[in-house]
Amino acid sequence: MAPAERRRRALDRGLFLADRVARVAASTWLVPSQSDPSGVHAVALVDGYLHCDCYAAAAGQPCAHRAAVCLLLLAGPVQDAAAAEERSDPRARRSA
Ligand SMILES: [Zn+2]
Repeated sequence: MAPAERRRRALDRGLFLADRVARVAASTWLVPSQSDPSGVHAVALVDGYLHCDCYAAAAGQPCAHRAAVCLLLLAGPVQDAAAAEERSDPRARRSA
């Protein structure tokens, strides 16, 4: 498989997995395995890089588990709807 295709597939699968990631420590997450329904892969943030214990990552390939955690980090924490609206609406901020 071409490198660009591997990357695209990892991103696609990462998007699918992002809602199923569990944070288990400050910089460690567990992401469901796609090949083993009862398995998980550990992803850790170390020195600014995401590391995963799966075969793809060990082979230096893009992996869906790191993509999922990356998407989660980019999306930020879950906020309640009212608080999020207040932060995004400048009029709400002025009147508060
Ligand atoms: Zn992985």
